[in-house]
Amino acid sequence: MSDIYSEILLDHYRLPRNKGKLFQETISVEGKNPLCGDEIVLHLKLDGERVSEVAFEGSGCAISMASASMLTEDLKGRTLSEVESRIDQFRHFIREGAEPEGESLNDMISLSGVAKLPVRVKCATLAWTTMEEALRQVAKK
Ligand code: ZN
Repeated sequence: MSDIYSEILLDHYRLPRNKGKLFQETISVEGKNPLCGDEIVLHLKLDGERVSEVAFEGSGCAISMASASMLTEDLKGRTLSEVESRIDQFRHFIREGAEPEGESLNDMISLSGVAKLPVRVKCATLAWTTMEEALRQVAKK
């Protein structure tokens, strides 16, 4: 990975955004990546069809924690259908390693090297898969 990308990634790892619990959350969902030992709990607060707040707790490798931190920054304020398409876009990006057409990936671009490290793909996508599970559970409510 290039230096600038590792700087962005390590910044999110050392100073995670939106880490902690939420007051009066709508739902919280747990995700695990046993391959690496990454664990995460995603807290979500909805205002109708919109994500008004999102936070996470957990522990794991730098890639998994940085990716969770980036997720919270990226998804806050989005509608549920925007969140769904953002998850698809992110997953595609992690597999291909190239920034897809459309909206910028912002800090998430720093994870582009993961495509060349297949064992780390699950680390990078853990928070996003957990978010997907949260959406499924919300839909059932
Ligand atoms: Zn990991």
